[in-house]
This record gives sequence, structure tokens and C-alpha cells, in this order.
Amino acid sequence: MPKYKLLFGLIILFVVSCKPKEQVFPDSLIIENITTIDAKNGLKEHQTLIIKEGKIQKIASSKDLKLSKKNTIIDGSGKYLIPGLWDAHIHFAYMEELAPSMFGLFLAYGITSIRDTGGQISYVKKFKEASMSNPTTVPRVMIAGPLLDGMPNVYDGSAPSRPHLSTGSATVDDIVKQVNQLDSIGVDLLKAYEMLTPEQFSKIIELAREKGMKVTGHVPLSMDVISASNAGLNSMEHMRNLELSCASNAEELLNNRKQLLISGKNDPGGILRSRIHAAQRFNAVDNYDDEKANEVLKVLAKNETWQIPTLALYRSTRLKENFTHLPDSIRIKWENGLQAMENQEPSPDRTKYTNWMLKMTGKIHQYEIAIMAGTDTPIGYLTPGLSLHEELSQLVEAGLSPLEALKTATLNPAIILILKLSLVGSVKIPGQI
Ligand SMILES: [Zn+2]
Repeated sequence: MPKYKLLFGLIILFVVSCKPKEQVFPDSLIIENITTIDAKNGLKEHQTLIIKEGKIQKIASSKDLKLSKKNTIIDGSGKYLIPGLWDAHIHFAYMEELAPSMFGLFLAYGITSIRDTGGQISYVKKFKEASMSNPTTVPRVMIAGPLLDGMPNVYDGSAPSRPHLSTGSATVDDIVKQVNQLDSIGVDLLKAYEMLTPEQFSKIIELAREKGMKVTGHVPLSMDVISASNAGLNSMEHMRNLELSCASNAEELLNNRKQLLISGKNDPGGILRSRIHAAQRFNAVDNYDDEKANEVLKVLAKNETWQIPTLALYRSTRLKENFTHLPDSIRIKWENGLQAMENQEPSPDRTKYTNWMLKMTGKIHQYEIAIMAGTDTPIGYLTPGLSLHEELSQLVEAGLSPLEALKTATLNPAIILILKLSLVGSVKIPGQI
């Protein structure tokens, strides 16, 4: 045999033996050629995912994986895959007629984990139990139980806009009882509220630390943000009362608040709180002091006091078409409510405040204070699920990159809520961080 023929034969053999073998993945679902995006790895095009028993078993570049036609393959070309999203601030108990539809709405918009930040424990517990018994068909649910408030408490059920979401404690001993009871029932976190005294607030944090729980909340009106953060508050919802501590007249405002709390102690909590906000919020925004804000944000960064700005709640682009997927009775009610609102121009003060919130969110981000995306749905005509996407776009408007915004609804909640990072937050196989 001529030498060249032998060489030719060997080359053919080599090429055949190097050709990747067509692989079969039994009982698996395969998505081929998809673009994955997560906050850890960024954007990766042409990925193939092998999914078995509901979990990702393998991720590879599509060109490196030769698949047999025997597999069940979905073509992911032109499509994107992101980790399940979190809404870190929702209330099942705010609108009980909508609550049964909320799981479905969250899933329809890609929200696979939610944190209920206030509702009576007997009510919200049912949603957590449903989630735990159906982990593959119901979003993951974490609950705070009721808002832990002082007296007079704000959400006391005395008006339709203030349903009974809180418990009002008159003393530090009452707070101890409340926290112990919630701990025995099995809440995931605690939520401190605005009418607490500094002593009650510190007790909540002390007990939570002993029990290994995080405390989120509104900074009590009796305190400033620096003391609340130094006391150990883990995260702040809506940046609530931050403006009061970033004003050049912050000390004067705090002293006035303390007076107003005393003089209004026999009024309903919701009315007293509104009176104090009306007297101070816009005044504080008018007296915003950048140096003062820098001082406050340095403390928040040092203490790692995370922020859940809920921008969409205040700057909502409320649109009737957003209500399409709501149950009819609620859709009609919301459309009518919106109609009434459309006739009122937002006050210049309110516009100033919402612009302040957007600017402050950008500044918080520059200070590298971690943010979680949350909405407060269904408060403020925010459709469950859809509103989280609105929140993400507003975070981008505030100065986060799209990938950083995605992080606030994926990796960040997974980190702060101490879940197993090997299972949530990014696109990966179980076990990877
Ligand atoms: Zn809320």
C-alpha cells in the first residue's frame, strides 16, 4: 500500500474518533442555544442547559455539546433565561380578595420568591404553609408576621386604607411577648414600625439577634436613621424617614417629632403618623443637606443597613392595561380608583419628594449600600409580579446598570435572607455558588 494512502486512512480515523459523540440525557429536558443572564456571570450566549427532576444538571456552550435527536430538546434561540426573581416587599393581607390570585400572578411574571413584610400571623402563615407543601408550583414565601408597632399603632384596622396589619405594644414587656410568640410560630424575619419607642426598637433587635433573625423596618419616628442603624437594624423599607435625617435641621425635626408624638398619643396611629409626615417630610426635603446625607450614608454603609427603596410605589406609572390579568372585581375597582386619581394633579411637594427618592437611591448605590427590589404590592394599584419589573426599570433610572438591578431581585435577597446560595440567585447547577 502506498504510504500516502495509509496516512490518508489514519487521518480519516483520527477525524472520526475526534468527532464529539452524540450524547443522550435520559428523562431530561434540554434547552439549547439560549442566552443566560445573571448578576454573577453576566450575559452568556448559546448555552445549553440539561434539566432533570426540576433542577439544572449541566450548563455548557451549545457548540461543545453534541446532542442526540433522541433527547427532548427545546430551541432557545432568541430567548433569555434569568434566575427566578424576588419581590422583597409584598402584603398578602392588604387585600384579602386579591390574595388567592397573587401566587399565580407572581409566577406569570417570573417571580419565584416573595417576602411578606406585614400581616397578621394567622393569615400570612397559610401562604407560607402552601409554599412549603408545594415548593415546585408555588413561589417561595418568607414572612415577617405583623408589623411590630408601638402605641398608637398605625395599621390598627380602623380605616380601609389601614387594615389590621400591626400589633401595637405599649411597653417593652409587650414587645418581648410579641417577639417570643412570633418566634415560636416560625416567622422568617421581624418588621419594626414607626410608633416604637427607641427602647422597644432596641429590644426587638436584641431578641432577633438572640434568635438568629433579621429585622427590617421603618425607622421609628422617635429616632433618627443613624441611631436606628447603629442599634442594628438590618434593612430599611421605602428609605422611610431617611429624608428627616438628611436635612440641615434634622435635630430640630427630631425634637419636634418627639413633641408631636406626645401631644398626639391619644389619636389613632394612622392619623398621628400622617400629621407628623405632613409637618416634616417636605420640610426635610426642602432642607436637604448633602453633607448631612453623606454622614448618614457612611453609617448605613459601615453597618450594612440594606435598602428596599420601593420606587414604583411612589413613582408608579399606573396604567389601566396593567390590570388586565387581575380578577374582574378588582380590575373594575382599581380602574375606578385610578380614574379618580387621574383628575388630581400630583402636588409639587409630592413630585419633589419622589424625585428626591430617585436621587437618593442613586446615591445609596454609589455608597455601595446593598439594595433589594421590592414593591409593596398590592398597595398603590401595583399589580403583583408586573410591578417588580417596573421597580427594576426605576432602579435603572436611579443609576444602577441593568445587571446591577437584576442583582437586587436575585442574588441580593438570596444573600440577606441567608438562603442556601447553592440553590438560588443565579443560573447554575446545584452546589455551585
Ligand atoms: Zn409595606
